Amino acid sequence: MAGSLKSASAVQRLRSLTPLTGLAPGAHEIATVHAPFSGQPFAELPLAGPADLDHAVEVAREAQAGWASVRARAKADILRRFRTLLLDRSEEILDILQIETGKARRHAFEELADVVFVAAYYDGVAERLLRPRRRKGAIPALTRTVEVRHPHGVVGVIAPWNYPLALAVSDSIPAVLAGNAVIVKPDVQTTHTALAALQLLLEAELPEGVLQVLPGDGQGTGAGLVDRVDYVSFTGSTTTGRLVARRAAARLIGCSLELGGKNPMIVRADANLHRAAAGAVRGSFANAGQLCIASERLYVHRAVFKRFLASLVDQARALRLGAALDYDSDMGSLTYEHQLRRVEEHVGDAVAKGAVVRAGGRTRPDIGPLFYEPTVLTGVTPDMRIHSEETFGPVVSVYPFSDDDEAVALANDSCYGLNASIWSTDITTSLQMARRIKAGTVNVNESYSASWGSVDAPMGGRKDSGLGRRHGAEGLLKFTESQTVAVQRGLPLDLAASWLGRRRTRNAVVAVLRRFRPRGSRP
Ligand code: NAD
Repeated sequence: MAGSLKSASAVQRLRSLTPLTGLAPGAHEIATVHAPFSGQPFAELPLAGPADLDHAVEVAREAQAGWASVRARAKADILRRFRTLLLDRSEEILDILQIETGKARRHAFEELADVVFVAAYYDGVAERLLRPRRRKGAIPALTRTVEVRHPHGVVGVIAPWNYPLALAVSDSIPAVLAGNAVIVKPDVQTTHTALAALQLLLEAELPEGVLQVLPGDGQGTGAGLVDRVDYVSFTGSTTTGRLVARRAAARLIGCSLELGGKNPMIVRADANLHRAAAGAVRGSFANAGQLCIASERLYVHRAVFKRFLASLVDQARALRLGAALDYDSDMGSLTYEHQLRRVEEHVGDAVAKGAVVRAGGRTRPDIGPLFYEPTVLTGVTPDMRIHSEETFGPVVSVYPFSDDDEAVALANDSCYGLNASIWSTDITTSLQMARRIKAGTVNVNESYSASWGSVDAPMGGRKDSGLGRRHGAEGLLKFTESQTVAVQRGLPLDLAASWLGRRRTRNAVVAVLRRFRPRGSRP
């Protein structure tokens, strides 16, 4: 009873956020949004049409003109207040996150912590990274060259539903700090989470219009946004990423694409097996496996395969599933029905072709309509869909390997290259293997959080997992356009050439080229 009262008041609070959407006045198509925990509708969401897109971009352009000239210190102060508000009001935000996604509260909290972490990082480094930089001039001492960074203008952030706070807000923070206005297009299912963050940003005194949230579908609103903004930061599936890339290319605007994965984890024979199995459980079942950097393929050395599998199966079976707005469960629900269908299809296809279910393998309608047990499969072969397609659910396949070369080859046997993990007590060998794995991030003795949490270092995908990086300097500078300003002192270059004559100019240039050393290179 107390639980349902809590849930009812959280839904009321969530609905109060709907008017914050950046929609133009007038009638709108309405989407009904359902709660994954119960299957019940909880909100009616107005969706943006072309007029709303035009309106939002106009508002953003006006706001950006003033925002770009706000001093870096003042921008950082706003973010500092936002971080404090997020922590003070974290329980409210976690309720909204859980209602919209059906994830366990501990996974919702990880998301909130990520936003605080990223905001703290960028408000600490943005001013330094965006400062004009002296560069080596064409003629030493006579050419003074400076690299200046300008915001693109209006940035579209298109986000998926699986980590709707982190992926909508953590990517918007560097864009805003770089002086852009941002229009966030969340998934319809998780729009209120983005609105809750917007409310806190406004309370933290972010000027109106610098960040807007535009609710809408992908093909209409998402594509329409790509057609109107100056840069796109997209997170979602590889299929959609390709469409976004084509659209952005047609307009010659930049985009970053954070896409899907089928991430390998390697357990060497010398690994601490209990810790590796615990890492696999965290890495494969976090957010019910709806995590782009989740481990879906586990490669385990033959010598320890049985022992590792036993520990993994025990730990997977021990996970508690739950549908309450509290911290008691280890794993929550899937978010969308089509996601549950995909998991069922992948497991069904694998089992029909001979794979063995070692743990889980069942839906749990007794807990909620979209629950699926943490599932461990063995005997998976290349003809099964789950072998190479991203499942994006709580299912992991375990394969044996014989030596490090085979493990690296198996890890690289995928069109994706997002994240990987190696478990071993031999750090030197692990580091050598890491460099041979074609993935944007590789974790040693951790599944994903070591690299993801290293926000000073870039994170992103190779191969079909994406283009561009978030985090680190790249995650900020991609939201800027560089401009090189060079001041020539003394004799202008062409005047010097005409005064010296062509042959002597040529000799002078040859002499300069012979002595030319790029900054930092050895003599
Ligand atoms: P999706 O591609 O279906 O949708 C992502 C977003 O794009 C949504 O907001 C959607 O409305 C919008 N969209 C859809 N079609 C569009 C179009 N034609 N033009 C513009 N926008 C459009 O992905 P999803 O199912 O929401 O998310 C799951 C996928 O995202 C998985 O593949 C997962 O691996 C990936 N993902 C990647 C990362 C990463 O950092 N690499 C993080 C989270 C999720």
